[in-house]
Amino acid sequence: MAQQEDVFKKLVAHCKEYGFVFPSSEIYDGLGAVYDYGQNGVEMKNNIKKYWWDAMVKLNDNIVGLDAAIFMHPTTWKASGHVDAFNDPLIDNRDSKKRYRADVLIEEQIAKYDDKIEKEINKAKKKFGDAFDEAKFRATNPNVLREQAKRDDIHKRYSEAMNANDLEALRQIIVDEKIVCPISGTANWTDVRQFNLMFQTEMGSTADGAMKIYLRPETAQGIFVNFLNVQKTGRMKLPFGIAQIGKAFRNEIVARQFIFRMREFEQMEMQFFVRPGEEMQWFEKWKAFRMQWHKSLGMGDENYRFHDHDKLAHYANAATDIEYRMPFGFKEVEGIHSRTDFDLSQHAKYSGKKIQYFDPELNESYTPYVIETSIGVDRMFLSMLAGAYTEEQLEGGDSRVVLKLPAILAPVKVAVMPLVKKDGLPEKAHELLDTMKLEFNCRYDEKDSIGKRYRRQDAIGTPFCVTIDHQTLEDNTVTIRYRDTMQQERISINAVADIVRKATNGHEQFKQLMTKLVK
Ligand code: ATP
Repeated sequence: MAQQEDVFKKLVAHCKEYGFVFPSSEIYDGLGAVYDYGQNGVEMKNNIKKYWWDAMVKLNDNIVGLDAAIFMHPTTWKASGHVDAFNDPLIDNRDSKKRYRADVLIEEQIAKYDDKIEKEINKAKKKFGDAFDEAKFRATNPNVLREQAKRDDIHKRYSEAMNANDLEALRQIIVDEKIVCPISGTANWTDVRQFNLMFQTEMGSTADGAMKIYLRPETAQGIFVNFLNVQKTGRMKLPFGIAQIGKAFRNEIVARQFIFRMREFEQMEMQFFVRPGEEMQWFEKWKAFRMQWHKSLGMGDENYRFHDHDKLAHYANAATDIEYRMPFGFKEVEGIHSRTDFDLSQHAKYSGKKIQYFDPELNESYTPYVIETSIGVDRMFLSMLAGAYTEEQLEGGDSRVVLKLPAILAPVKVAVMPLVKKDGLPEKAHELLDTMKLEFNCRYDEKDSIGKRYRRQDAIGTPFCVTIDHQTLEDNTVTIRYRDTMQQERISINAVADIVRKATNGHEQFKQLMTKLVK
């Protein structure tokens, strides 16, 4: 665990050193849980958004895009339930004065039991080798049985307390489990209270009678209130989806995990409208498609898993998370929710407008049901960096830090370097760059030794480096170096763009995804 936290710390430092992520307004000591993306971060973030948009809007004939405003009429949030129910249970430690989410403290405790069980199993696996029967071991080993019973007990109490909104019961679990504050080390806890996560501001001058409005805590509602606009003007037939990328704001209680939990973040959401009663089959299809999207990036299938929700949000009848193995454990990157007709019905009720779809096949009108896929750009960004960050020992005692990012997401696709800063080599390098820069994000580097330049590109995950030397002037060949293997090859200068294109245009990934399109 300590080792993993170490990796996380290094990752945060790396992000800053190489222009991926900076604390917001850092010259004023930063602002809690708000971050800025630097010169490499913004490129990678844009690549993530494009990969999502292309997979959702371009590949699926039945999905269109939208860009709704952040400010919305305040009644939106009354109708959606956020004014009354978008709360987290918070608890304070009286000694450290630190604030925590009671649900997160308990979930971490449950994860500790899971870890203990996994450790026992791994130990036994090593001991018994091929003869190991995991199911039998789980069913009979006294240590596993004891930890599993404790885990199941707290899990049951936790689900019941959350579903009944019983704050006293949540506190009691924390007390019974002897959970302490990691800062003060004490269990001197306050009561658990509900805390609304929406930011408020005012629109219009007070003389006009200013209106209290909210910064949207999710992009989804912009889609729901535009359902009829898009359906009618786009002549959309059910089933169809509306996709949107945009900022969302939540006044998170605990915000100490870098860009994992931010107060201003970005979501990529898609709401898919279906016939009532058919929602479960679409839910399953979207689960499969979204999981394939993640896995298509090649970061290791074993690093992803589904996690079904015990407590369903007020609007949902089924929900699951796609989790990624972060340096601090498996964590949610994306949520897939079956939202029923809750949102459209609520907006119909609060606005007094009829929000329904006339189904020509059934010859009747109804309120569609909705499957939502909702992924955080920033969490996706963090998961990719965490998976990509690698420290390697090289022959000769040297070492390197390399980001083994999927080429399609890498901020810079190819770096072009003249071996020396003279003899016409820089000019030749620029000639090559000029043929590629409209298509790829390229970088030119002529400073320091070639070895140092390679390391700089490794550290930001550039998949290809191309070196121009004296031979290039004679026969138009260059050296191309591959990031992950560090292998070098002599190829024709005319072949470079093609190699970079093939590795970065995503066609391979899209082909895989097209076999799982949601129709
Ligand atoms: P959590 O349980 O971690 O608070 P959530 O279940 O409330 O997340 P959703 O409301 O389902 O999250 O939001 C969908 C996605 O938006 C999440 O899977 C996550 O990737 C992203 N997200 C939500 N809150 C934040 C945040 N504070 N910072 C960064 N990303 C976030």
